[in-house]
Amino acid sequence: MKNKEIYLDNSATTSVDPAVFKKMQPYFYQEYGNPSSVHKLGEKARQAMEKAREQVASFLNCFPEEIYFTAGATESNNWLIYGLINKITEESSFKPHIIISAFEHKSVIEPAKYLEKNNLAELTLLPVSKDGLVELDILKKAIKKNTRLISIMYANNEVGTVQPIKEIGKLIKEINQSRKQKIVFHTDAVQAINYLDCNVNSLGIDALSLSGHKIYGPKGIGILYLRKEIPIISLIRGGGQERNMRSGTENLAGIVGLGEAMKKVKSLGSIYNQNIKKLRNKLITGILKDISNSQINGSMENRLPNNAHISFRGAEGESIVMALSQKNIFVSTASACASHSLEPSYVLISIGLSPEQAHGSVRFSLGRWTTNQDIEYVLKILPDIIKRLRKISGR
Ligand code: PMP
Repeated sequence: MKNKEIYLDNSATTSVDPAVFKKMQPYFYQEYGNPSSVHKLGEKARQAMEKAREQVASFLNCFPEEIYFTAGATESNNWLIYGLINKITEESSFKPHIIISAFEHKSVIEPAKYLEKNNLAELTLLPVSKDGLVELDILKKAIKKNTRLISIMYANNEVGTVQPIKEIGKLIKEINQSRKQKIVFHTDAVQAINYLDCNVNSLGIDALSLSGHKIYGPKGIGILYLRKEIPIISLIRGGGQERNMRSGTENLAGIVGLGEAMKKVKSLGSIYNQNIKKLRNKLITGILKDISNSQINGSMENRLPNNAHISFRGAEGESIVMALSQKNIFVSTASACASHSLEPSYVLISIGLSPEQAHGSVRFSLGRWTTNQDIEYVLKILPDIIKRLRKISGR
């Protein structure tokens, strides 16, 4: 009989919740209309899409008109950065300044670096602390007269550290009071949605990106939340969908799935957070107790409840992933997006790990379906795996 799969890679992606999948199904073959069509089938598709937009808006506490459906957070991050900076440079001769943290996801770093390289913007990569946190006084010092965009992720996708988003929002609001050219505050909230308060008004967020497949919804769908007054140009032009801001026939089933997934996250509440944290803590305590020379990376206090990121001295992360995979346990080294590279993770280097420590690190990310037995099984077999790999590497 096939061993049960133990999936501890929920930060890379999640399975679609069966209840979400069920709600999506009709939109593939019964309610398949194009939301732009004027007939009855189109009207039904439009209604389903607008219901999903309301579900998302209710989660974020914003207006439905401030939600734009995209193909995912990569697109949302690219759009926000290029779209905003393009708009600003169209309207003024100032070269705008962008601040992002050094350990943002590549979909924030790459567009920002592209703009810098092509002389279209100045860029500051903000260093982060050894605990994996953006520090407010360092951010404050980095702000210049021409700063127009600050993009700080809500929670880091590798080490799971949670950034002081509310404090950053407050700081930017204060600074903006005396400015004509406002600073836009964007957060990549991909990893935060499942666990953290994402009320854009109380947090002072102007723009936010998320992806459906990290929250038990489908892949290939996401949103950009954009506060009404924020200037931006569209990047994907054509038929004028999404109020002329993001053209292309909408991913209707994906949109319905995203709305339902957000509704489900909202309904789970804090008990779910406490349970997953208990399991995660059990995993961390067990590993640190039973495996010598192992250490947890990033702040324990300001951390997503599902994340355990651990370095095992003298063992290669990739080999640990492969050995666990043979036992049907799925974890990862760097984020899934960076795992094609042999370079040590820039995220881990940014929080002060040596290349050797970075290479010996594994991310365990628990999820909605993780059980106590799963954790006990991992704790049972991991010490021998590490021992064996350390022996092979001769360290
Ligand atoms: N930002 C963060 C923090 C992420 O973890 C990811 C996915 N790894 C993305 C952005 C990109 O999401 P997607 O691949 O769904 O576009």
